[in-house]
Amino acid sequence: MTSRDGYVWTEAEGLRAGVRSIGVIEPPSNLTDNTIIFDVIIVGAGYCGLTAARDATLSGLKVLLLEGRDRIGGRSWSTDIGRYPFEMGGTWVHWGQPHVWREISRYEMRDQIEISYDFSSGINQYLMVNAEGTQSMTHDEEDALMESGLQKFFNVDGKSGRDIMPFPHNASFNPEVLKYDKQTVAERLFEIRNFLTPNERVAIEAFVLLCSGGTLETTSFFELLHWWALSEYSYQGCIEYLVKYKFRFGQSSFSIRFFREAQETGNLSYVFNCPIVSVRNEENVVQVTARDGQTFEARRMISAMPLNVLNAVHFNPALSPGRKAAADIGHINQCIKVHAEIKDRHLRSWTGISYPHNRLIYGFGDGTTPAGNTHVVCFGAQHNHFEPEDDIQETIKALNGFVEMHIERIVFHNWSKDEFAKGAWFFPGPEFVTKHLEDLRLREGNIFFASSDWAVGWRSFIDGAIEEGTRAALAVKRDLQRIPKQL
Ligand code: FAD
Repeated sequence: MTSRDGYVWTEAEGLRAGVRSIGVIEPPSNLTDNTIIFDVIIVGAGYCGLTAARDATLSGLKVLLLEGRDRIGGRSWSTDIGRYPFEMGGTWVHWGQPHVWREISRYEMRDQIEISYDFSSGINQYLMVNAEGTQSMTHDEEDALMESGLQKFFNVDGKSGRDIMPFPHNASFNPEVLKYDKQTVAERLFEIRNFLTPNERVAIEAFVLLCSGGTLETTSFFELLHWWALSEYSYQGCIEYLVKYKFRFGQSSFSIRFFREAQETGNLSYVFNCPIVSVRNEENVVQVTARDGQTFEARRMISAMPLNVLNAVHFNPALSPGRKAAADIGHINQCIKVHAEIKDRHLRSWTGISYPHNRLIYGFGDGTTPAGNTHVVCFGAQHNHFEPEDDIQETIKALNGFVEMHIERIVFHNWSKDEFAKGAWFFPGPEFVTKHLEDLRLREGNIFFASSDWAVGWRSFIDGAIEEGTRAALAVKRDLQRIPKQL
């Protein structure tokens, strides 16, 4: 089935909007009676909403899942182009991400995980490109450069961050760490400017922008410390946890399991292509109105919409001042993720950065397509931001800004222009976490707010979405058990 989301470009066919995915739900609705009062309406069919829907239906609740798109998965979905999964959003998973691994294990998908990198043959080089030229290194030299630079960057306590943030799943356990939420990455880099080699500085800046999708001036140093602590305080840990292990058949092959399991309970109603525009949160009922004027009712609601689009929905009564302030600020991540299928087989073992002049900053060989071509994935940020679909020649130029590529196909999703995301994974500016995280996690009347964007552990990751969906479904179940079924 073809989703409206995403873009594909080939020389022969030019740029086309809409990409095939197994995450598209057809028919888009199974709802026959709009007058039913559900136990819970869940808005958003990303991993958070899907987990909540699966858990709530399994516990016997009658659930209505409403989703603006034509597909499941939200910010994590994969294509089905010639049966090959290009990952348009969330991709990599790890057994050290407890919620996601529980699900991989639960759905018996352990043998469907593969490694993105393949350094067995070909160029086998890390290419560092700047406006003046290219330096090449072995991957061992790349690792040594990154490790030494990042250790200096994160070593705020003489213990590589271990003392300042000893429990990454309870990040503020040591309250001392909160001062780093006032600091931007640009400020931290200034502090250590005399200790970094020129190559370390460039490599760290590119890495930071890969993580935050923002700019050095807008990225919270605290949040990066959190990622570092989650990744076991080492560059190797970052590679292992953040960009190494992915699903052979794509993220949509995973998310569909949650949806199908919820369906099998017989307790799931759903409507796709159903953007929500307003919510009335009354004493005993929540009334939700869609863009086409349809209304739906339930005793509780789980909002599983991302932070950057919360303001697009009119809440009555208005959102609490704390949540509203957070939604007004939003997160900073405007990552651009572009895949290219290229004829250059030797680039399967390439990794590289092209910074600060290029539109895309970081890239590497990510797979081999059924045609035997190399699949490379490249990332840009708010730094030097561009819209890949606006000028495909500019996109081709940015890809060739790493190394010469013979491009057969380009595939991407523009998350910045996506009305249901308005950005990529959550990444906060300074002082956002300390000022707003708690507010975002609070319940308001009959509405429970859940999202990877305000998870506690792997916040910003698929794991965080599952963490939050689990929390919300349990909270609703407990809440409903205390009140009579009849309104
Ligand atoms: P979402 O997936 O955003 O789900 C929210 C849902 O709400 C969406 O389906 C949306 O359409 C719907 N919605 C919004 N507004 C409305 C409305 N008004 N009416 C109805 N429906 C609405 N994570 C990893 O773990 N590993 C990675 O490698 C990784 N890489 C990433 C790369 C990119 C480019 C991006 C964008 C994200 C990446 N992430 C990664 C992060 C991960 O994808 C997200 O954190 C996670 O998928 C968020 O899940 P969620 O359910 O909280 O939110």
